[in-house]
Formats: sequence, structure tokens, C-alpha cells
Amino acid sequence: MALTGMIFDIKKFAVHDGPGIRTTVFLKGCPLRCKWCHNPEAMDPLPVLAQFPRNCIGCGKCLENCPHGALSRGPDQIIIDRSKCQACGACTKECYAEALVLHGREATVEEVLHEVAKDRPFYDNSGGGVTLSGGEPLFQPEFTVALLRACKAEGFHTTLDTCGLASREVWAAVLPWVDLVLYDVKGVDEVRHRENTGVDNRAILDNLRRICSNGVRVQLRVPAVPGYTADEQTIADIADLAAEVQPSEGVELLPYHRLGESKYKSLGLECPTAGLQPPDDDLVERLRNIVASRGLVCKVSG
Ligand code: SF4
Ligand code: SF4
Repeated sequence: MALTGMIFDIKKFAVHDGPGIRTTVFLKGCPLRCKWCHNPEAMDPLPVLAQFPRNCIGCGKCLENCPHGALSRGPDQIIIDRSKCQACGACTKECYAEALVLHGREATVEEVLHEVAKDRPFYDNSGGGVTLSGGEPLFQPEFTVALLRACKAEGFHTTLDTCGLASREVWAAVLPWVDLVLYDVKGVDEVRHRENTGVDNRAILDNLRRICSNGVRVQLRVPAVPGYTADEQTIADIADLAAEVQPSEGVELLPYHRLGESKYKSLGLECPTAGLQPPDDDLVERLRNIVASRGLVCKVSG
């Protein structure tokens, strides 16, 4: 049987996920639970059902098609009983208004490769390629290795966007097929890291130190989230770490944005950062200067 992975999107013409024009493949599943996550549809390794009631035209097709009795008609919108929903996607098949959308589908390496290969001329003309993101691509190591390997066989530049949390064995298997790693660092302080992301950061930092000392091309990516990471002490600690490991492509600050907020609602989840405002330009510039003061190249995304 062909190897499959669980993906939730393939984004064309991406220009912030590595050099040049890229196609970014988003994989499902993540071991972290960052409070500010803007891709909540990616956290669960299995498909999840999202609802956009404003698109609904009231046709009732979804009610007819749900085999698990998870849907009913409410006064204003279709009601999903998430305790019954199996995320089978049957209700979405004839929801042409896209009021119900399933995030997540199984795909083979060949299917994904066929899709990304359509953009070869853009890669060739811009120095771009294929980026694997998520979720966390290393959460599906077998599929990720196979897909990266297939991309390299086609001559595509490959980028891995990762939180860094994986075993040494997984890292050893994936690195031969990766040209660039976009490595997220969310804090050096162990206690705060656990509070903010739900996991210990020791393996993440160990992996970072090891791959940087092995000459892998790395860009550190640092979310700047007010109340969580966008403060001078947190960024100074990360800047010191960056000065130690000397990532070949420097550091990129990622100011928090609110685009993920509505996604939580569509999934029936509470957004942990509801109402949180992005950092203002002055704060971002102060944080950028802290990183730059260590002699590091530091850009701000967006
Ligand atoms: S199929 Fe879609 S558009 Fe029709 S009632 Fe259901 S949610 Fe609304
Ligand atoms: S995803 Fe499947 S189980 Fe869930 S509401 Fe739709 S049809 Fe019913």
C-alpha cells in the first residue's frame, strides 16, 4: 500500500516560507500547544470539521448526508454536535456554499509531488522550491522524509518549517533531504516555555545546537507575542542563544497577528489569545535591535 500523509493545505506562490517563490505543503499534527497558534486546524493529527455559518444557504444537504446524526437545524444556523461528529466529511461533499469544510485529507507522496511539480517554472525563475510546514512536519516523519526525498530527486530546493521537537533519529533521517531549516524558538526559560506551549524545551534546544554545529543551513524564527514572548528579557535570552549557535540565515521575528482567531471559532474551540492585539511597531523595533545588538542579521516578517 502506498505511503500516505495527512495534509490540510497546499499553498501556492508562498513568499515568506523560504527563498524565492515556493509551494508550501501543510501537514497535520503537532506536539506543541502554543497559546498563540494561528493554525489550530493543524493541531489534531486527524481531520477536523470547520463551520462558516455566514456561507450557509440553508439547503439542508448536510443534514441528509451525515451518517452519524451529528447535525441539526437550529434557529440561526446548522448545529454540530461535536460529541457525535466523526469528521468523516460526508456533510461537506454537497455543501457547495462551503459553510462546512473538512480540514485534513490523506495524500500519497506521488499526489503531493504531482501538485508541487506544477510550479517548477516558478521555482526555476525565482530560486524557490517546496516548503513543508504545519502543524509539525516531523510529527509524520516517514511521510515527511519520503516527500522531501522525492522533491530532491526532482531537483527542488527544500525547506522544513519546524518547532524542532523530534527524536535524534528523526532528525538524522530528514536532514539529508533538507536545504534549509526554519527553526521556531519560543523561549529559553523552561518554565515559561512549558506554560506557553505545553512542552519542555530541552530537546528543542538540544536539537538546535546539534544541527547548527553540524553546518545545517538554519534560520531562527521567533514569534513576538505580547504577554508571551514579546518582551525584552525573552528576546534577549533568545538572542544570546542565537549568538551561541550562529544560525547561517540569521533570525526572523514574527509579530503576532489575529488571523487565527476566527479559525478557533469555526472549529468550536476557544481562542486562548482572543482579543490580543499585535505588538506595536516601536516594540518590534526594540526587540529587533536586541537581536541585532548580538551581531546577528535580524529581519521582521510581513
Ligand atoms: S449543506 Fe452547507 S449550505 Fe446547505 S444547509 Fe448544510 S451547511 Fe448550509
Ligand atoms: S463530518 Fe461526518 S459526522 Fe461530522 S457532521 Fe459531517 S457528516 Fe456528520
